[in-house]
Amino acid sequence: MSDGGAWAVEAIAKLDGERERILPTPLRRFPLPAGWEVRLWLKDESAQPTGNLKHRLARALFAQAITAGLIVEGTTVVEASGGAMAVAQAYFARLLGLPYIAVMPKKSSGEGVERLGGRCLHVDPPLAIYAEAAELAERVGGHYLDHYTSAATVDWRGGSLAEELFGQLEECPRWVVVGAGTGATSAAVGRHLRAHDLPGRLAVVDPENSAYFPGWASGAADYGTGMPSRIEGIGRPRLEPGFVPDLVDLVVPVPDAASVAAARRVRRDIGPPVGAATGTNLWGALEMITRMRARGVRGDVATVLGDADPRHLRTCHDDTWAQSRGLDWRSYAEKLEHLLDHGGSWQPDPAPE
Ligand SMILES: *Cc1c(COP(=O)(O)O)cnc(C)c1O
Repeated sequence: MSDGGAWAVEAIAKLDGERERILPTPLRRFPLPAGWEVRLWLKDESAQPTGNLKHRLARALFAQAITAGLIVEGTTVVEASGGAMAVAQAYFARLLGLPYIAVMPKKSSGEGVERLGGRCLHVDPPLAIYAEAAELAERVGGHYLDHYTSAATVDWRGGSLAEELFGQLEECPRWVVVGAGTGATSAAVGRHLRAHDLPGRLAVVDPENSAYFPGWASGAADYGTGMPSRIEGIGRPRLEPGFVPDLVDLVVPVPDAASVAAARRVRRDIGPPVGAATGTNLWGALEMITRMRARGVRGDVATVLGDADPRHLRTCHDDTWAQSRGLDWRSYAEKLEHLLDHGGSWQPDPAPE
């Protein structure tokens, strides 16, 4: 075996070792009114080493690129991301001793990447990050990980959220509710349900301006809104290749202000300063629970606490921030109080079941 092969074997062993050292992220129970015969579980991904759900996909993308020979010893790894994905990738680049550069919009801080030894390249306009990352990788002879494209073929090597989640639950949940960025997490859950012939179903929650809800509902092979999502981490201007509509039983559109209200509710009831996408998850999960209760269906619903970070105290948990974006979260906070504190009901949209 050449030295290159030896490096790859050692790198994969390091990635597997990292995965095995991490305990399963905890399941937290979200408190629902007494007498509801439904339990709501949050898979707490803030317990990941980089504090975010994206830790899993970042590891899997490195493993995939190394196995394919696209990353070898010394390869400069490049990504287009100014968010949690870049932080998680910087962590794995450091673990493997690889140079790492995140190409990100001007307004992204890049602090998390730099703290982990990565470099940041800020570009403008924000949508230029993809072309810039591809060119940079080419120029330096590096590898552009391109998580939106690579997520379509990701090999989880046992590290998907789905396997862990189902292993922790006593019974199969009626619904698993997740958001979609690359679509990889939802596809992993959908594949798990089908591969094990489980009775649970998959709902994807989708913020305003995202292509996933209209694309899924219309059955269009490609669908574009061309609009960025205001909910960090989820929602895309177009259908990404990692999103597999056939694996999704229902896509639930969630107003952005409802996501903000629900993120605040998670912080109030459980504690951590979660990002708005976790609010989207809670809102969608409560919609599914409302539908179940209307039919007298009992059982579990599972969703994801995607991350928790004090910096969110300056975003979705901050009144001024929400107001400056026109996010009138108060009416949705009242809906949550009506449902959770006063045992009221929601009139859900007619359910397509
Ligand atoms: C990033 C994020 C997602 C999207 O995950 P993908 O696997 O890229 O689709 C979903 N939920 C939360 C809370 C996230 O932060």
